[in-house]
Amino acid sequence: MKKYQHIIFDLDHTLWDFDKNSGMALSEIYEEFKLQDKGINDFEEFYKRYKIINEACWADYRENKIEKSVLRTIRFSKTLESYGLVDEILTETICESYLFKSPRKSHVIEGSYEVLSQLQEKYKLHILTNGFSEIQEIKMEASKLTSYFTHVIASEHAGAKKPHPQAFNFALDIIGTKAENCIMIGDNPETDIEGATNIGMDSIYFNRNGEFSKDVNATHQVHFLKEILPLL
Ligand SMILES: [Mg+2]
Repeated sequence: MKKYQHIIFDLDHTLWDFDKNSGMALSEIYEEFKLQDKGINDFEEFYKRYKIINEACWADYRENKIEKSVLRTIRFSKTLESYGLVDEILTETICESYLFKSPRKSHVIEGSYEVLSQLQEKYKLHILTNGFSEIQEIKMEASKLTSYFTHVIASEHAGAKKPHPQAFNFALDIIGTKAENCIMIGDNPETDIEGATNIGMDSIYFNRNGEFSKDVNATHQVHFLKEILPLL
């Protein structure tokens, strides 16, 4: 008898290629809003700064230090401010443009479709994401991921984000099962792996960029999505 009934996937950076899609959207924005003429001379540098600031803002959001509405704009205002640009209207317009463009990009991580197709024959598949539900739905439609999943669960409706146990228990309630019947697959050692471990759920750490990490307490660790198949 197989050990699990349900596989819970993270979405961003695990299946939906966040870096590639977000980078494409920002590159279009850089051109459209003529940011070069505004003193932002190098796109790569602009993108690097945005990524660092965005990550820090998301960490604040996860810890409930800032609201969703603040997170949306502050990552852009801070990036522009790092170039001495203080322009509320420009910030707001870029923010709106990004929120429209980025989720409509369709690149997925290598191996996604093959892995999901095979797994869906044996397991029920679900998404548990810290992203905003209306945005995640657009991403999944654009990248043709929707049909693989029974439930797409956004932690914002749980009142707590991954790694908080409340987010995982909320997902288990919706799925109608217990932690021991599930395995969590995600790219984030803290939100996905530590979160799953804390409620007694097995996990697969999708360690896409790094060396094998001894510090991450996952049941399994893979560098490519396809390596999941022989494990399940
Ligand atoms: Mg992720």
